[in-house]
Amino acid sequence: MAQTSDDDLRYGFGTRAIHAGQAPDPSTGAIMPPIYQTSTYVQDSLGHHKGFEYARTRNPTRDALERNLAALEGGRYGLAWASGLAATDAVLKLLSAGDHVICGENVYGGTHRLMVQVFQRLGLSFTFVDARDAGRVEDAITPATRMVYVETPTNPMMRLTDLAAVGEIARRRDLLFVVDNTFATPYFQTPLEFGADLVLHSTTKYLNGHSDMVGGALVMSRDDLAERLGFLQNAAGAVPGPMDCWLTLRGTKTLAVRMRQHDASARRLAAWLAERPDVLRVYYPGLPTHEQHDLACRQMRGFGGMISLELGSLERARRVVGAVRLFALAESLGGVESLIGHPASMTHASVPPAMREAMGLTDGLIRLSVGIEDTEDLLQDLEQALARAGDGP
Ligand SMILES: *Cc1c(COP(=O)(O)O)cnc(C)c1O
Repeated sequence: MAQTSDDDLRYGFGTRAIHAGQAPDPSTGAIMPPIYQTSTYVQDSLGHHKGFEYARTRNPTRDALERNLAALEGGRYGLAWASGLAATDAVLKLLSAGDHVICGENVYGGTHRLMVQVFQRLGLSFTFVDARDAGRVEDAITPATRMVYVETPTNPMMRLTDLAAVGEIARRRDLLFVVDNTFATPYFQTPLEFGADLVLHSTTKYLNGHSDMVGGALVMSRDDLAERLGFLQNAAGAVPGPMDCWLTLRGTKTLAVRMRQHDASARRLAAWLAERPDVLRVYYPGLPTHEQHDLACRQMRGFGGMISLELGSLERARRVVGAVRLFALAESLGGVESLIGHPASMTHASVPPAMREAMGLTDGLIRLSVGIEDTEDLLQDLEQALARAGDGP
């Protein structure tokens, strides 16, 4: 686990993104942190080494990334993982058999699968609630509850959790409050400010931003959590390799400028889509018609690049994803290139159909990850795809 210094936290976001955790290499002056592609480190003598013994435990490239990510979230400690789900796995391993978790019902499909198909068998129990309403979170608390786990905005329904309200409940009832901040990124939202104990990321998405690796991260300020999670990182070993750490670090350098462009294009596309009669509904927290737009304005500094659309039927969804030329049909999100996906059959196929139905995740829903291509080109691509899909059923 790597720790931020006061210096790392002193500067503005764009400056932290480029400098936090990274100093020119002392042996050569290399301005970029080297990729320490090594499994072990030579020791000076018995019991004397330079802080590095074995690369599962510590790697200098990973240290740089961990410090950088912690600085971006405004936290004290960062821990990098082999994937976002490896980070979630570690978070759940903070608990013991018999413990109960309250989770937002609209979390990433893989998060739901890990909870229900892996940790439930090991003795944890889960209640999934509509976390748009902090009251429902509070009502679900039992004497066994230890953790509240939410995503905001959620994937793909763009529902928000009131971080200050749930943070206050968690603090009062002494529950760990975990926030998956993958969609908003720390550029637009910093959950630690609102009382979150742990911030989780799939760095695969916006933080890396170039769709060329898979990784995860946790950021926290509490010493006890950093110590236990650092122990789990070494004990279970789901660590990222140095090359992937380096790619993520290269990605975070441009996070601020990328997010500004994702956000600007998504606002324009969402407003344009909302005007079209052949689009039944647009889910985007930046639209004044979004039911939680005011909350979005309170806890986010921008709305990001994710938009979901209701097209009314599986057939129309199929025609639109088949007709786009620039938007590529693929899982994942947050890269420089625009993607289109069909959550019901792709990212959320592992969520039970009844649960999908209950949250409005229909077969006619498609999700856009708006990239940083020219906005007008993206708009024209959607226009021609919607025209070709027609407005029949
Ligand atoms: C992708 C994703 C994850 C899982 O991350 P991986 O890196 O794919 O393991 C978790 N949460 C959200 C919101 C995601 O989009």
